[in-house]
Amino acid sequence: MIRLELAGANTRVHSTLCGACPQGPTGCCASPPGVEWSDIGRIVSLGGAGWLLEQMAGGSLRPGQRGLLMLRVEPRDSDGRALPKRCAFHGHEGCTIPPERRAATCNYYVCDDAFAHGGEPSGNPEALAGRRAHDALVDLYGRWDLELAARIREGWPDGPPWNQDFLEWLGREHERLASRAASTAPALTPR
Ligand code: SF4
Ligand code: SF4
Repeated sequence: MIRLELAGANTRVHSTLCGACPQGPTGCCASPPGVEWSDIGRIVSLGGAGWLLEQMAGGSLRPGQRGLLMLRVEPRDSDGRALPKRCAFHGHEGCTIPPERRAATCNYYVCDDAFAHGGEPSGNPEALAGRRAHDALVDLYGRWDLELAARIREGWPDGPPWNQDFLEWLGREHERLASRAASTAPALTPR
């Protein structure tokens, strides 16, 4: 089953298949996505600037070419055997951070197997709406990242300073982009 929580750029798509993921117990969190410029802006706009700086200081997030990269860790089981690598924010019961601190991909991405399991091939309405929302978000965040990357190259040719002011600028940029998109993304708007 696919379940959709429509909330514009903060929309979430859930699949019951994730609880028994065919890729293994860590599912998608074995390969965490980047926290890209638009994700950082979204997290800041939801009150997470201090949290981002704390995670950077602690090493769970580090600067990359397109934003921040999430640390991957190799936990051990109770017998000391190495378990498969996974996102540093993954715990025994799944993600340990709230949706407003995650990359948007963590909130909206589900794989083709999940859509098939949710009945997309037979036209299940929730699965079809989930696919529309998923595709709209891929498109939206992709465009925002290109626009923000160009503005960052222009404003900080040697790379951004990664301080509170820069994060707050990204937060304001996210709000500007999200308000511009609000009326043009019907697949993400609750009826
Ligand atoms: S989206 Fe697909 S690969 Fe990812 S956790 Fe769910 S079932 Fe597994
Ligand atoms: S932030 Fe959470 S949902 Fe995203 S990859 Fe890490 S553990 Fe998974």
